[in-house]
Amino acid sequence: MENPGHGAILSACRHILPLPLPVGTQSEFPYMASDMDLKSLSQEEVYRFAAEHGLPRYRAGQLLHWIYERYVVNLQEVTEFSKTLRNELAQIASISNLDLAVRQRSLDGTEKFLFSLEDGQTIESVLIPDKDRLTLCISSQAGCAMGCSFCLTGYIGLIRNLKAYEIVDQIISVNRRIAPRRITNIVLMGMGEPLANFDEVVEALWRITGLMGISKRRITLSTSGLVPKLLELPQKAPDVNLAVSLNATTDEVRNRIMPINKTYPISELMSACRRYPLRPRRRITFEYVLISGVNDTQADAKRLVKLLRNIPCKVNLIPYNPDEQSSMKRPSDETVLAFQKTIADSNITVLVRESKGQDILAACGQLKARYGKKAR
Ligand code: SAH
Ligand code: SF4
Repeated sequence: MENPGHGAILSACRHILPLPLPVGTQSEFPYMASDMDLKSLSQEEVYRFAAEHGLPRYRAGQLLHWIYERYVVNLQEVTEFSKTLRNELAQIASISNLDLAVRQRSLDGTEKFLFSLEDGQTIESVLIPDKDRLTLCISSQAGCAMGCSFCLTGYIGLIRNLKAYEIVDQIISVNRRIAPRRITNIVLMGMGEPLANFDEVVEALWRITGLMGISKRRITLSTSGLVPKLLELPQKAPDVNLAVSLNATTDEVRNRIMPINKTYPISELMSACRRYPLRPRRRITFEYVLISGVNDTQADAKRLVKLLRNIPCKVNLIPYNPDEQSSMKRPSDETVLAFQKTIADSNITVLVRESKGQDILAACGQLKARYGKKAR
């Protein structure tokens, strides 16, 4: 049964209607100026918005459910509401959506989604099926300011931060398109440095865990090591898994391939990791891109073991993914295996992660959306 008092939405919102526009510019749609994108609001703000417009609290709960768990793209799809209520709501609110520009499938089953944003910028997400898992690798920024020398996203520089809803909408948008399958795991390892877009990423994490029902254990945030934000993260965000892109064992090499190291050198980064509050049985993942002749020697492997002493952790070795123009190379399989063995012999869990989707440029470090190819 519909609550008979829904006319209240319109009467209650009258007080926020704009003053009439000068003759000649009068909008033919009287409520347009109060049009509110519900995805731009946090959970609490949706409740407040509903209250301010005379809607009972449970209606806000229903809206959140339809947006974040049923992936509706407009208010007319909220069929739990009467036609009248949907029409009334549609006059004061809307639901924005990312535009899917391209969807590409790799031979190994990985899929890349290129989305265009309201301002024409583009970002990428990568869907990686693996046994019973369906992981979506999402972007937190368009481009990235960190300038790591091995990474194409870094090469294009920062275009702009994403809003929380643009981060979350990557998941909504993909889930809607792959139904009845559903994404089970999220990694913030797409374009961008999540901790450089701290507030929006934290808000996105609250929505993903609180509204989309994805467990924080199934979410991993990867950072290049913005130490102050790394230490602030557990105070502000749900305690998702942490991955740290270490990629070198000396400041000399790390300064060269990851300029962030000049601000937060290895010793500071490792000390932050040691202080990082971990729940029992949780571990930090250290990512290490193996680049031939740069960071792949046995001496590096031994130094890595020393650096990781007393940190509950595991290591993911990622053989470097080249792009057409780069001069860097991935090491031979023997070098990769020898590196892995030295770490494993020290009783640290270590996996070699072959990036998926290389044929469609969806692998780690290859995301650059549509920003063109600059010469390296
Ligand atoms: N900015 C964050 C998350 C995005 S990068 C970070 O740096 O952690 C995700 C991962 O891709 C990082 O571990 C990074 O080291 C790795 N990566 C970047 N370029 C790569 C490349 N060309 N080959 C292999 N891995 C790469
Ligand atoms: Fe940015 Fe991460 Fe790429 Fe470095 S590796 S440039 S931090 S996206």
